[in-house]
Amino acid sequence: MKLAQRVSQVAPSITLAIAAKAKAMKAEGIDVCSFSAGEPDFDSPAHVKAAAQKALDEGKTKYGPASGEPKLREAIARKLKTDNGLDYKAENVIVTNGGKHSLFNLILALIEPGDEVIIPAPYWLSYPEMVTLAGGVSVIVPTDVSTGYKITPEQLRKSITPKTKLFILNSPSNPTGMVYTPEEIQAIAQIIVETDILVVSDEIYEKILYDGVKQVSIGSLGPEIFERTIISNGFAKAYSMTGWRIGYLAGPIDLIKATITIQSHSVSNVCTFAQYGAIAALEGSQDCVEEMLQAFAKRREVMYERLNAIPGLSCPKPDGAFYLFPDISKTGLKSLDFSNRLLEKEQVAVIPGIAFAGDDNIRLSYATDMATIEKGMDRFEKFVKSLI
Ligand SMILES: *Cc1c(COP(=O)(O)O)cnc(C)c1O
Repeated sequence: MKLAQRVSQVAPSITLAIAAKAKAMKAEGIDVCSFSAGEPDFDSPAHVKAAAQKALDEGKTKYGPASGEPKLREAIARKLKTDNGLDYKAENVIVTNGGKHSLFNLILALIEPGDEVIIPAPYWLSYPEMVTLAGGVSVIVPTDVSTGYKITPEQLRKSITPKTKLFILNSPSNPTGMVYTPEEIQAIAQIIVETDILVVSDEIYEKILYDGVKQVSIGSLGPEIFERTIISNGFAKAYSMTGWRIGYLAGPIDLIKATITIQSHSVSNVCTFAQYGAIAALEGSQDCVEEMLQAFAKRREVMYERLNAIPGLSCPKPDGAFYLFPDISKTGLKSLDFSNRLLEKEQVAVIPGIAFAGDDNIRLSYATDMATIEKGMDRFEKFVKSLI
């Protein structure tokens, strides 16, 4: 069968493949310690589940508006105001099937063949693939540990050409966990405004921050940057609702209308009763977020200490998300080889950095219980010591 050319240019998600392999090994009864998860290990909050159950019982089981349940759009607009200092109305918000779908809608509505999208590497692996599917050109800007894996304002300025349409900002970052400082966000905002491009701020990890670090939403820095900003966010990471598939996009009204049109012809609407769970997540107590954060904070300390105690490995301490991104180059292995051998020899699953354009690194997720972290790090240490 001759498939459309657009699919020949994209690859299936490596992260999902390795997680699947680890799961399959577990199912065979093999004792796998998995640090591959890109999702919190907690159950969704009880009051969120209860709200969705109530919506089901009340018959909220029909088609809804393509843009999302009006109550949820309003709740999101209020959240963006209170949490992020962003002045959006409900009509500036579209509810989507997760943060990934938000970004996909955005790219589809915005990017034409030849348009350039600037993506700092290491990056979340779906960004460039989405750009490719839309016929756009990803301009990958490599960063390294010397800048905390963050793009510098100078690098951003140099990467902008007359064809640049969009810059993708992800803070806290997946895979590095790094968070841009308010000064860095300010400097980036200034360049966006001066060069009149757009920025999408993927803020899916905004609630997962450590040691008092603050997240600044780029669009809150003034009216000129606000006009050029699109916010992508969702419920998956903050509320441990990955399987619910609810995210949202907020931005200029014309753009949001365009994404609603796309959505009306592709997915119609996000699962109606699930949206009532999302309303409860935003409007109910935020203690659940705090509890998960405290668990992540403890695990981060342990995994970070254990990693940096291994001779030859090094890793900066991330301020956000639930990942560590150590440099493994001293082992002499590239990331895919390292990850495969680690899984086979010691039954520890990690994600090879090559998935994020960082082939000298691997990504370890600490969204798992402490016992698995201790046991997995014992094995990990043994494996690395056998190499160095
Ligand atoms: C998890 C994630 C998302 C969105 O996930 P959904 O499950 O689609 O809501 C978006 N961006 C990054 C960087 C992520 O890690």
